[in-house]
Amino acid sequence: MAESQIQTDDFSDIRDAVRSLCQGFPGEYWREKDRNREYPREFVQALTDSGFLAVLIPEAYGGSGLGIREASAILEEIHKSGCNGAACHAQMYIMGTLLRHGSEEQKKKYLPGIASGALRLQAFGVTEPGSGTDTTSIRTFAKKVGDGYVINGQKVWTSRVEHSDLMLLLARTTPKEEVSKRTEGLSVFLVDLRESLNRGVTIRPISTMINHATTEVFIDDLKVSEDQRIGEEGKGFRYILDGMNAERILIGAECIGDARWFIQKATDYAKNREVFNRPIGQNQGIQFPIARAYAQSEAADLMVRKAGELFDSGEPCGKEANMAKLLAADASWEAADVCMQTHGGFGFAEEYDIERKFRETRLYRIAPVSTNLILSYLAEHVLGLPRSF
Ligand SMILES: Cc1cc2nc3c(=O)[nH]c(=O)nc-3n(C[C@H](O)[C@H](O)[C@H](O)COP(=O)(O)OP(=O)(O)OC[C@H]3O[C@@H](n4cnc5c(N)ncnc54)[C@H](O)[C@@H]3O)c2cc1C
Repeated sequence: MAESQIQTDDFSDIRDAVRSLCQGFPGEYWREKDRNREYPREFVQALTDSGFLAVLIPEAYGGSGLGIREASAILEEIHKSGCNGAACHAQMYIMGTLLRHGSEEQKKKYLPGIASGALRLQAFGVTEPGSGTDTTSIRTFAKKVGDGYVINGQKVWTSRVEHSDLMLLLARTTPKEEVSKRTEGLSVFLVDLRESLNRGVTIRPISTMINHATTEVFIDDLKVSEDQRIGEEGKGFRYILDGMNAERILIGAECIGDARWFIQKATDYAKNREVFNRPIGQNQGIQFPIARAYAQSEAADLMVRKAGELFDSGEPCGKEANMAKLLAADASWEAADVCMQTHGGFGFAEEYDIERKFRETRLYRIAPVSTNLILSYLAEHVLGLPRSF
């Protein structure tokens, strides 16, 4: 396959600039980080310096005020280049909760620093060990004391928190038993980790199959002031949901980038690897799975784009954003498997980067929302099937 067939030409200036930045971070860089489980600090710094992480922040607060489609192009190109945006993608979209629901004072206080990179807002503490996907059953509780709150609880899978100055935290402010709807009584706080690390917040890294800087976070008598709460008390679940469409579209774009990387790798290898005196790519048993993965990733890309267009024009896009994430995560996984199969034994060798990307892209069928939960959303909220839980 000619390289140009899996190039996309929208936002070509942005895409060219991202590709050229990524050339400075080749496979060896990622392999070494992966082997040592190190945070790709230099890569994140380069993206910060180039302003790519601040694209969604309005110009009034120091960002470039672009849309989700430009942000998607950036993340797709990062992944298509063999790099990994997971070390910092959250810096792009977590701030959306602050932007949409924070007070003017909060926005002025934090957004310019986030835009310049002086302040890192990379961490998002929602998931808990006891509740999992059932977010409204979280136990972390913020008790009103005087003119602030005292928070106690535990989070799990809080990624990048060791590399963040701020953490967006979801906690209950009214017990579930005392609210009329289970989605009420949850609030969002912006925790300043520079003040609270080891003074109310303790972090314990989790060793995982990918290099993702993910952790457990223990919260013990953490005192936060009222002005660290974002928006109204008790409305936090809605604020978090508001941010999820952006997250789903951007993760979908990363998956499309991964799929294109795998398909390119598989195609190149299939053309060049000779077995039985012919290129393996001459066999339809090798060609067809690659062609199918290509078709699937192109179709998924259309849904990512549709969701992005709706999002940028302020239209409802819950259905499309969920389908984009679902289809793109499936497409990248299919492409990963096909790429591995095409490479045979060499797919397992670290130096080909396939086994690393294979592990990395698998995450997206589970996080930030699992495939089953998207299917359940579509079944219940789009198709009107009976509620299952
Ligand atoms: C590397 C990594 C990074 C992460 N980063 C973050 C982060 O930064 N912040 C954060 O808050 N969270 C983070 N997460 C958590 C992630 O969002 C959750 O793992 C994910 O939402 C699934 O939740 P769970 O692991 O608790 O699975 P569970 O809720 O325990 O579910 C287990 C399985 O059962 C399925 N299931 C559950 N209920 C149903 C049902 N009713 N019907 C059908 N199937 C069902 C699920 O789909 C899943 O496949 C991260 C996770 C990982 C692995």
